[in-house]
Amino acid sequence: AIATAQAPQEERLVVAVRVRPSMEASERCIEVVSGGSLLYDDGGKSRPRQYSYDHVFRENDSQEQVYKTTTAPLVRDVLNGLNAAVFAYGATGSGKTHTMLGPVPRKKPQTSDRAPPTASCDSTDVSSQDIGLMVRAIEDIFSHIESAEADSCRVSISYLEIYNELIRDLLNPGGPLELREDHRGQRITVAGLSEITTSSRKEVVSLLIKGNKARTMEPTAANQTSSRSHALLSIMVQARTPLGTKQGRLFLTDLAGSERAKKTKNRGKRLQEGAHINRSLLALGNVINGLSGGARYVNYRDSKLTRLLKEALSGRCKTVMIAHVAPESKHRDETKNTLVYADRAN
Ligand code: ADP
Ligand code: MG
Repeated sequence: AIATAQAPQEERLVVAVRVRPSMEASERCIEVVSGGSLLYDDGGKSRPRQYSYDHVFRENDSQEQVYKTTTAPLVRDVLNGLNAAVFAYGATGSGKTHTMLGPVPRKKPQTSDRAPPTASCDSTDVSSQDIGLMVRAIEDIFSHIESAEADSCRVSISYLEIYNELIRDLLNPGGPLELREDHRGQRITVAGLSEITTSSRKEVVSLLIKGNKARTMEPTAANQTSSRSHALLSIMVQARTPLGTKQGRLFLTDLAGSERAKKTKNRGKRLQEGAHINRSLLALGNVINGLSGGARYVNYRDSKLTRLLKEALSGRCKTVMIAHVAPESKHRDETKNTLVYADRAN
């Protein structure tokens, strides 16, 4: 980059791509060429194409590396009273939940067509090395608060899913919850959503894994436990200062699988889910695209997801999009779609 006299301006939007480890010895469609670019091979129809992003994480990059690069800078902001958001985007099986949560127990396949055994663990038995961004962010916040000896800080979390444009509490599952908007449409809240104040890592890990199990998972042809819902964790930090209360919020979202309805051979209910999911992913893409392009008017109203996240997607807030891709060539089409979505946001 060319040095300028201007103070370096921190980017409002950071777009990263993470390539998950290959699950089989097969042909690949992705080659990472640097920490910021990769080559995509469409199977020999044309020359491999290069895509560039703010960061590209390779198969062996650790959870800690991903955390430090993408989320740690946002935690500083949140402690200073700003809002921020991190999104995990990608098709089912591309590694979104791994990034956000870590390895979690899988639901047993319902057919005789058994999936190979995958890493699984008891609720609080996730090794520190594999733990995902959600818990890392909370731990980081706890340790900052402790070191600052700010006894006047409060950390509370809420965890919800959006499924078919309906909001459900993942910490206390029940019927759908309503979005409330104040008269100016500025503050949006979810009526009746539980908020848990905690300072225990163990409690947070088990709450999140339990919450994740409560997510609506429906078997599709693409994956036995494909997540058809967006899971949204909010970590709110409130600090009392001599000048009043400072409040910052970090949103961490494990988005629904971005695969197209076509591929999963969806019919009826599944197809309708697909339509809702694509609509909110499209709305999110448009909002993010608007932000990166410095658009004067950004439309948040198109989906519950963007309405809920408005306070973290506007103003001085920072947003990180981590797009996930599978390297095996059989996932070539979904991988391409994800690279293009992330490229458009970039
Ligand atoms: P998604 O949430 O996008 O559907 P998952 O996070 O469930 O995908 O990942 C699919 C599988 O791949 C899981 O068994 C997961 O543990 C594994 N996996 C994904 N990313 C990684 C990674 N970076 N390192 C190791 N295993 C991974
Ligand atoms: Mg998942």
